[in-house]
This record gives sequence, structure tokens and C-alpha cells, in this order.
Amino acid sequence: MSADCVFCKIINRDLDADIVYEDEQVVAFKDINPAAPVHILIVPHKHIPTLLDLEEDDEALIGHMHSVANQVARDFKLDKKGFRVVINCGADAGQVVFHLHLHLLGGRPLLQTIAKDRGV
Ligand code: AMP
Ligand code: ZN
Repeated sequence: MSADCVFCKIINRDLDADIVYEDEQVVAFKDINPAAPVHILIVPHKHIPTLLDLEEDDEALIGHMHSVANQVARDFKLDKKGFRVVINCGADAGQVVFHLHLHLLGGRPLLQTIAKDRGV
């Protein structure tokens, strides 16, 4: 938990979000500024600032985040046509929220390069 972190606030219910999935390790909610018809963020409860801050003990958590992405993708009917998952790490990747999160994007062809596609 980090006091000024927007995602910690969502996890603690101090800030509203459109939550679509939650379990004991992660929460998933709709991105407030969607880059695709389906744009969901999968966020661990644990405050890990960036991918570079992962510790050995977090490896199972990263795997779980991807399993949740699959589940949410199926729930939003993205499994037939496909989807993209992205983690931005640091300044050049355009990371703006320093609480690790996985973007799940879909619902339209994502043909552009990642760079042209608004950072995700
Ligand atoms: P990034 O740090 O660049 O990987 O992306 C952070 C993402 O969080 C952006 O796509 C924002 O639109 C999204 N975001 C920021 N604040 C909120 C919020 N309060 N609720 C939902 N999504 C948010
Ligand atoms: Zn946080």
C-alpha cells in the first residue's frame, strides 16, 4: 500500500472504479481512458512500482495476472478474435501509474505498432 497511489486507492475502495473481477491477489477494472472497446487493467493488490521491482516471490503472481487476463478476455468474448496484453515499464514506455498493471486490450483489430497505439 502506497499512500498517494491511485491504484492502491481503488484496491482499498477509497476511489471508485468499474471493477470487473477481483480475487485475493488481483483486481481488474476498466481503464478510465480506453484505447480499445475493451481495455481492462489487471492489478495486483501488492504495491509493486514497476516490472523492474519484481522479486523472486512475485513470479507466481505474474503468472496469475496472465491467467486472470485470459479469464477476463473470455468473459468479454475476446477469445475468438484475439487480444493484446501489455506491461509498460518506466518513462520510455510511457508508464504513468507506478503500481504494476497489465493492460488487456481488444474488441477491434490492433494492427498498429505498440508505439503508435497510444502507448499500449
Ligand atoms: P500506464 O501507466 O501508462 O501503463 O497506464 C496507466 C493507465 O491507467 C492509463 O491507461 C490510464 O488511463 C489508467 N488510469 C489512470 N487512472 C485511472 C483510474 N482512476 N481508473 C481507471 N484507469 C485509470
Ligand atoms: Zn499502489
